[in-house]
Amino acid sequence: MACHVSEVLRHNRELWDQFSFKGISTLNQEYGHVRNVIGDRFLTRPYMSEYLRREGFSLEYPDGKGFAVCLTHDVDEIYPPLRHTALSSASSLTRGDLEGMKKHLLWRLKGKKYSPYINFREIMEIERRYGATSSFYFLATDKDVLRFRYDIEDLEGELGIVADGGCEVGLHGGYYAFDSPEKISEEKRRLEKVFNGKVTGYRNHYLRFRLPETWEYLRQAGFRYDTTIGNNRIAGFKNGLCHPYRPYDAIKNREIDIVELPLTLSDFTLMNTRVPFSRKWEIAKSLIDSAEKCGGVLTVLWHSDAFNNSHLSGWVKFYEKILKYCQSRNAWMASGREISGWVEDKI
Ligand SMILES: [Zn+2]
Repeated sequence: MACHVSEVLRHNRELWDQFSFKGISTLNQEYGHVRNVIGDRFLTRPYMSEYLRREGFSLEYPDGKGFAVCLTHDVDEIYPPLRHTALSSASSLTRGDLEGMKKHLLWRLKGKKYSPYINFREIMEIERRYGATSSFYFLATDKDVLRFRYDIEDLEGELGIVADGGCEVGLHGGYYAFDSPEKISEEKRRLEKVFNGKVTGYRNHYLRFRLPETWEYLRQAGFRYDTTIGNNRIAGFKNGLCHPYRPYDAIKNREIDIVELPLTLSDFTLMNTRVPFSRKWEIAKSLIDSAEKCGGVLTVLWHSDAFNNSHLSGWVKFYEKILKYCQSRNAWMASGREISGWVEDKI
């Protein structure tokens, strides 16, 4: 049976209303509302994907892999703010890790290019060990809600290194980009100029999104996929979906020609969920298991500044544990560009 995600869901009124975000115009609006989620609520059941499976929709993946894990990194910081330097240096000192401490303290004297957060090679090296590739989303704006982040022009050589490593250079749309087609196009052009290549993947900073307009702006700007739709308060399947899909514009009554890879699991959400560390792993594992059962795509976000940061080293181990587990489950671990390209004529 040839079927597409929206064709299947259209037959179920309740799911269709959720899928087309009936009555919802924005996601993740305000800055600063995410801290300290109490308890272990998480959206564990991909009920919409389970429905899709029951109705005969299924995806196949390369080399007979049973499901896919899309690995992504938002590059929010390139130059550690003083708070990070203080936390990391103190943590290195407690461990007796003098090299680590020097790395965090001395880069300010040695120069920008020694920043510990210019760490793309290290991240790619970890992923390579598990046969994985990933996407890096870079900011290309001077305006931010918190403070100035970085000039993308400083990273010219690094973008080439990411691409040469088989990974993707994508755009991390600025805090103010999501509802401005001009800003989205301007930031894309700026990143492409520095990268000297085409950029087709997108995630908005702080997961800010206007429904359904942002998708339309992204399509017009030439993006092939977005991976912003998720919940930054609770880990799990937004609207019960772990399948990529073509979003639906309920106002204009038509599908938008772009792929959405819904975001399911992020370091940020797990860090801010107040449960024991061991429970956090159980949450992550159960989400991976559910995606496997549905033959879906699980999108993982691990911020690049969680790496090379002594006080967050437990989170690098956590990320490796995810990679190791997914490898043992025969997942296809790849970038957003590879996965969206593979599924775009199948959804
Ligand atoms: Zn961000």
